[in-house]
Amino acid sequence: MHKATSVEIKCILCNQKKFKPLFKYNFAGCFCQFVECSNCSLIFANPRPDQEKLEIFYRNSYYDSADIGKWDELRLKGFKERWGLIKRITKIKKGNLLDVGCGFGGFLELVKNDGWNCEGNDLSEIACNFARKNGLRIHQGGLSDINYKPNSFDVVCSWDTIYFLPNPYEELLLINKILRSDGWLALRIKVVPRIFLTNFLFKRLFKFNPGWLYIFNLKTIEDILKKTGYNNIRFFYTSPSKRSDLSLFENSLRAFVYYISKLLFFLKIRILFFSPTVLILAEKK
Ligand SMILES: [Zn+2]
Repeated sequence: MHKATSVEIKCILCNQKKFKPLFKYNFAGCFCQFVECSNCSLIFANPRPDQEKLEIFYRNSYYDSADIGKWDELRLKGFKERWGLIKRITKIKKGNLLDVGCGFGGFLELVKNDGWNCEGNDLSEIACNFARKNGLRIHQGGLSDINYKPNSFDVVCSWDTIYFLPNPYEELLLINKILRSDGWLALRIKVVPRIFLTNFLFKRLFKFNPGWLYIFNLKTIEDILKKTGYNNIRFFYTSPSKRSDLSLFENSLRAFVYYISKLLFFLKIRILFFSPTVLILAEKK
């Protein structure tokens, strides 16, 4: 098998090349590591796997092990929570929504049943075919491969995808362009505080996937959103789902962390923010 090569990049947020190493990992036989930018503190993979290897990884293997029937069933509660928040905050009654990285289309089905026009895209052929069978409008490919007209969507959402992208900065700019002038971006990301960035804690509790290229915290995600044309940036807690690969103790620990985080956030102690997942709503500037 052809051995992957790793590539080095500059910080996408500030263009600097000075980093502090955090932890190492292996991707298809090549050495990779996570670093923290010494200038803006963005955390990203550098060196990272080459793009060709990453694309093969996503197109072929990402959903292979997924039990298709259960994939969205496990996520339905979370989808409903997010959709409720989007409607409450944006106050948009009916419109056009795009789901970037829509997977099997479970979220789009919910939106469609609510009377919205919606469509999605995903790299995975398995996921796209499944979603199409359910009557959804789906494009296979990345956002940059599809020519959406500027100002087309009232809401663009992307659940747990932007940290897998080679350049989230470019992606957020693209989304900004296709949003209407008063449109909203809805993101769900894992937010990982610096203290969790050790091999054991991070890989176990945050379900480290070797396709991850960025690890955001509240500061860095806010910085990148401001730079790519968003304002009115709002953070929300989303409830943790139980994970079958963790023990009762680990699941309880996650739930405990969630409630503590929620309380701290309520008290505006954002420095101690350590909930693993967060929903972000941001308006186009
Ligand atoms: Zn930087």
